Amino acid sequence: MPKAGCGGSNRIACSVRGCGNTSRQRDKCRSFFHTFPVKDKELCAEWVRRCRNLTIGNMHNARVCSDHFTPEDYLRDLKHELLNLPLRKKLKPDAVPSIFFNFDEGNKLYIKIV
Ligand SMILES: [Zn+2]
Repeated sequence: MPKAGCGGSNRIACSVRGCGNTSRQRDKCRSFFHTFPVKDKELCAEWVRRCRNLTIGNMHNARVCSDHFTPEDYLRDLKHELLNLPLRKKLKPDAVPSIFFNFDEGNKLYIKIV
């Protein structure tokens, strides 16, 4: 039996290879998790390719955390900005994850893929 409050099987983990962010750490690292753009096959395939960790077959349950997106990848939440409410993290329709760790260097160095 999983301990109460630990999230159990509902825990969300980032699909990007080597990232390791999970929903349990969310409060600490302030990451958001995004679902794959499954309605756009081409864009979705690009997300999968960039994750380097999963196949196109399991993307329906996969998530990518906000660490892999730049501020420019998000839509401005004008309504919440005006009302001084917490901003929602909504990706632009054509956004792709672009910030990754560089494993080839043997350490966690952020690289940006354009
Ligand atoms: Zn991640």
